[in-house]
Amino acid sequence: MSNKMRPESLMMSYGYKPELSEGAIKCPIFQTSTFVFRSAEEGKAFFEVAYGHRPKNENEELGLIYSRINNPDLEILENRLTLWDEAEECAVFESGMAAITTVMLEFLKPGDCVLISSPLYGGSDHFVRKVLPKYGINSLTFKLGQTKEEIIELVNNAGMADKLALIHIETPANPTNVLVDIEMTKRIAEHFSTEEKPVYLAVDNTYMGPLWQHPLKHGADLVLYSATKYIGGHSDVIAGACLGSKALMARVKGLRTFLGNMASPNTGWLLMRSLETLKARMDIQSGNANKVAAFLNEHPKVEKVYFLGNLTEADGAQFDIRNRQCLSNGGMISFDVIGGEKEAFKFLNSLKLIKLAVSLGGTESLAEHPATMTHVDVDVELRNELKVTGKMVRLSVGVEYYEDLISDISQALDSI
Ligand SMILES: *Cc1c(COP(=O)(O)O)cnc(C)c1O
Repeated sequence: MSNKMRPESLMMSYGYKPELSEGAIKCPIFQTSTFVFRSAEEGKAFFEVAYGHRPKNENEELGLIYSRINNPDLEILENRLTLWDEAEECAVFESGMAAITTVMLEFLKPGDCVLISSPLYGGSDHFVRKVLPKYGINSLTFKLGQTKEEIIELVNNAGMADKLALIHIETPANPTNVLVDIEMTKRIAEHFSTEEKPVYLAVDNTYMGPLWQHPLKHGADLVLYSATKYIGGHSDVIAGACLGSKALMARVKGLRTFLGNMASPNTGWLLMRSLETLKARMDIQSGNANKVAAFLNEHPKVEKVYFLGNLTEADGAQFDIRNRQCLSNGGMISFDVIGGEKEAFKFLNSLKLIKLAVSLGGTESLAEHPATMTHVDVDVELRNELKVTGKMVRLSVGVEYYEDLISDISQALDSI
């Protein structure tokens, strides 16, 4: 037996000491705004560390001060989340968008440029294109499938070589499951990094994490999550997370303290409960997704299926990236029905077990129509180029019995 336990074995206990909570087996909800110091000297010492006025002494832990700075439900949750990505530090936020925007605000300043993959999650895309320009921060967008040389040329031609400060990517891209090569993107960051101005790489790993893809191992500096999705997993909580090295996370947590967008103790407690079944849920979801995709692949009313498990050697680079970067095919499937919006809507309106809703990663399977829902803000030209058209449906596969999912999909396809 190896000494190092797997994360799933530690999700019930890691970082929690029952003797500090009257022996309670579960971490209680520390619904408190502030914490009592044992002495004035202790309070002084806690603040010195919290505000970075001196480094921590050996074995010194940051004491509990005030729930905007730290709280046991958040700290234990953060410690548990680090295990999946083998990260040094984690910070949890009140939403995925809070995590993403805090990272952008911390690592970008007026005059800087952020390079993004496209399409990005709608909220991230809006923040980059509509909000950051108000602070004098520019953006550049690279397209899926562009090579390292092409992307470097794009930055150079835009005159942004010495302005680039952050690269933010999502892989696989939503909703088409096209992969971005994290290692290649890291080499682009290194190409533009200088001693005075490092270029950091942030990867939004919501679609695949924290089990099926570990961006930090492929060179990412920061990994971001909407914990609303697989981590929370029950469609009942909004939350976010960011993970990375001690040095970078000190900056992220520093800004979080002053933006005040940390998660609440109640959210921390809910997510700890979710983490206990994370591995079990995600295993079932990816197993179900493989079976649902196999069914869709053979169906006469389905024109095309966008699923990582469908990649073959004939797909070249995409196949190589999948094999290098992904530990599973994930739980997200998109497909084109034969026809257009009318046929796709007929399918969606005929589903009985699968719910018609956006979001993803929860225990219940969801279906939605990207072109008119999640991706309605993407301009039509780009949408067509990405093949996000009226005939596309996106599925988030849940934990139901797979034959029940398949028979629901089957009767809805028959209704077209
Ligand atoms: C949902 C989502 C977000 C935003 O997360 P919230 O928790 O809704 O703020 C960001 N990125 C991706 C890929 C998402 O799916």
